[in-house]
Amino acid sequence: IEAREAYVAARPKSAEIHTQAREVMPGGNTRTVLFYTPFPTAMQRGEGCTLWDADGREYLDLCGEYTAGLFGHSEQRIIAAVAAAMAKGLNLAAVGENEGKLAALICGRFPSVDQVRFTNSGTEANIMALAGARGFTGRTEILAFRGGYHGGVFTFPFGAPISPVNLPIPMRFADYNDPAGAAAAIREAGDALAAVIVEPMQGSGGCIPATREFLQALRDATTETGALLIFDEVMTSRHSYGGMQKRLGIMPDMTTFGKYMAGGMSFGAFGGRAEVMAVFDGHKPGAMPHAGTFNNNVLSMAAGNVALGEIFGEAEAEALFQRGETLREACNAIAQKHGLAMHFTGLGSMLNPHFRAGPITAPYKATVEEEQMRELFFFDMLAAGIYLARRGMVALSLPVGDAECDRFLAAVEEFCAARKP
Ligand code: PLP
Repeated sequence: IEAREAYVAARPKSAEIHTQAREVMPGGNTRTVLFYTPFPTAMQRGEGCTLWDADGREYLDLCGEYTAGLFGHSEQRIIAAVAAAMAKGLNLAAVGENEGKLAALICGRFPSVDQVRFTNSGTEANIMALAGARGFTGRTEILAFRGGYHGGVFTFPFGAPISPVNLPIPMRFADYNDPAGAAAAIREAGDALAAVIVEPMQGSGGCIPATREFLQALRDATTETGALLIFDEVMTSRHSYGGMQKRLGIMPDMTTFGKYMAGGMSFGAFGGRAEVMAVFDGHKPGAMPHAGTFNNNVLSMAAGNVALGEIFGEAEAEALFQRGETLREACNAIAQKHGLAMHFTGLGSMLNPHFRAGPITAPYKATVEEEQMRELFFFDMLAAGIYLARRGMVALSLPVGDAECDRFLAAVEEFCAARKP
């Protein structure tokens, strides 16, 4: 209660913005992930990895726009690319050179991706990948995992009934990181199953990495039954130059992308084996349609070429991964030292606190007490001037350096010392 009261007292302008927006938007908000009570902090400006809110308070940005903000808020090469594209005109209603170049960059990085098409978001990329898999196999059903998130219309919270928000696609579910159970579910579905869609690390589900055995079991069982294996690498593609598929050496049939890949501009993409992607080939009779006014948005295409082609290379991806690994280990050492039931899961530059002892290898339904601790952690971090995702997720951006990591560790230390029972 005290933490909330201090939060409200320090943010009159954010409160005002929320009150006005509530009149015309349900919940005063247009992104569920940004909603929390009593009202979310409204941000006004960002630079590097610093944010300023509407009340003039300054924050270290460790939310990193839920992984889309990989380059920070003022990467000059991206700003220059967007400005140059703007100067040549928006909405040209035509194909351009940049989309083929960006596609070549993506196909060159991700070993299983021969061909790719663009969308406006990760959600759309998943919709089109599932449609493509159904078109290619001539089958209808999709298997996904409890705790998975593949976009606003594919939200599969652990332990909750299947929400009416999900698209009416015949779905089956299995438990994440249960190789035997998943393989059995795939075999049981047999030739009704068009595809299995899986995050190589559940992001929204709490930064829970898939085990190699689990992904390999999915690969083996789908190969056996003829279903396609889709890796949703919307978040995890940052984990190496070629995403988790390259890191683990396990190749899906299709991959979906999004988030940071267009340098922070709106973006999504889906790709895969040439044979599968051929269902969208307009040169072929009966090709599946894939329209979308902004699919080749000139700003995203221009920024993406600079982001992937000039900034986020192999060495940068590896350094970012290692920085995150070091940070997560240090967070866990602090929690352990204080004897607090708190454990950070994750991989590389993405980490998420849980308010129970580790190890945590599967999604779970949190208790009321755990949810209270999570809320306290979020408000304590804001009070310390650190901006995280409401669920506590940290997504490092390239401007985050040693000093910023140390600042976060000091805040975690203070939290652990103050909040242990
Ligand atoms: N897939 C995963 C794994 C995601 O984390 C997200 C977004 O958080 C999406 C898909 C949806 O992407 P978008 O928000 O761009 O629609």
